[in-house]
Amino acid sequence: MERQGRLSLDGVTILIRYGEIALKGKNRPQFEGRLQQAVERALTRAGVPLGPGRVRRAYGRLVVELAPGYEPGSPTLGRAIRALSRVFGVVSFSPAVRLPLDLEDPIPAIARAALALLKSTVPGASGSDTAALAAARTFKVEARRPFKQFPLNSLEINQQVGAALLRQGIGMRVDVHQPDVVVGVEVRQEGIYVSTEEIPGPGGLPVGVSGRAVLLLSGGIDSPVAGWMSMRRGVELIGLHFHSYPFTSEEARRKAEDLGRVLARYGDGSFVLRVCPFTELQKAIQRYVPEELRITIMRRMMFRIAERIAAAEGALAIVTGENVGQVASQTLESLGVIEAVTRLPVLRPLAMFDKMETVARAREIGTFDISVRPYEDCCTIFTPVHPKTRPRLEEAEAAERAMEQEVDVEALLSAAVAGTDRQELEPLPE
Ligand code: ATP
Ligand code: MG
Repeated sequence: MERQGRLSLDGVTILIRYGEIALKGKNRPQFEGRLQQAVERALTRAGVPLGPGRVRRAYGRLVVELAPGYEPGSPTLGRAIRALSRVFGVVSFSPAVRLPLDLEDPIPAIARAALALLKSTVPGASGSDTAALAAARTFKVEARRPFKQFPLNSLEINQQVGAALLRQGIGMRVDVHQPDVVVGVEVRQEGIYVSTEEIPGPGGLPVGVSGRAVLLLSGGIDSPVAGWMSMRRGVELIGLHFHSYPFTSEEARRKAEDLGRVLARYGDGSFVLRVCPFTELQKAIQRYVPEELRITIMRRMMFRIAERIAAAEGALAIVTGENVGQVASQTLESLGVIEAVTRLPVLRPLAMFDKMETVARAREIGTFDISVRPYEDCCTIFTPVHPKTRPRLEEAEAAERAMEQEVDVEALLSAAVAGTDRQELEPLPE
């Protein structure tokens, strides 16, 4: 047992795997650079002290070096694991002990490292009590040897480390087909990495590699989920919330802000939210547009404003939480009439989701409880009793022309855009 203290000298690291298939040619360095940056920021934000090597690229992997003094199972490692499971682009990762390559007798050292890791990751296993390990029952050793100068090949490492573990009386059996635990050994140029678990990451692409988009962020259940899904595809978001004070309360705005703060946890450390004063436009719509077309026109105004904000922010698309067929404003006819006002691509990640899928995802990513706080939506307040479910483009355009006879719509749009403020939100504490 005393010998376990030596492990920290060799270094506790985290090996990060990312999707290589999508990484062809010129995209690769950009992807890796962004991912490296995102990993380093996420860990720093989570208060995980890094070692001198910090986060390095190593041939198809990223290696996180934790500050010296770590032991497998330390609480800081738990924080690191939570932070990494949110970094888009991470396919999976393994806390790993790194041993020097030039050990005189590497096999017992690898086995000791594996045992220490097993004790820290198998619930209930600690000290000299092997009962919990025995309960995990079976293991196999799976070695890879990218560093070919190492004297033993993968098969030999598998057999010898396996035998050494069995000699330590851990109470586990070997099962090469369906093991409960895989002891990973990676012999690389910079050292031997030993790990006993592979934790899934969220996959996707690092935020930023796909460019920027404006997310229409309402405060409901759908749009934050749509935002999260866009971020997972590497899209950096600028949130845009329409606020109809005093018809909607400050609480409604705070909800959008809190949702932005949850999304900030998944991004580069902050979330830009733009809040647009929408009251005057809504009042004009209320006054001059026939009831059954109000929702359609209101949403066309939102898209016009979004397009202008996108231009100002260098964004290339509009993202919404719209879903096919859910409500009157989301029939295929409505979606078409609404998006006709913009030339930007309109991305609707939830278009084909069932509500249950969206709710499940909202719970997972931590937005659900905020979304269901009671509040008045600027849409619901002005929602007509009988909206048109199948509006036609000519009708909408005619209604807008009639509106323009009564009020200077362009002036209202410009004023709304000019009055849109900009905040950089910090991640919401957990
Ligand atoms: P959500 O749950 O996102 O509010 P929803 O199913 O309630 O969606 P609507 O309220 O009709 O549907 O809105 C459709 C989409 O329009 C939203 O997902 C959002 O992208 C955008 N949107 C609606 N209201 C606002 C608002 N006040 N500010 C910004 N975007 C909005
Ligand atoms: Mg809504």
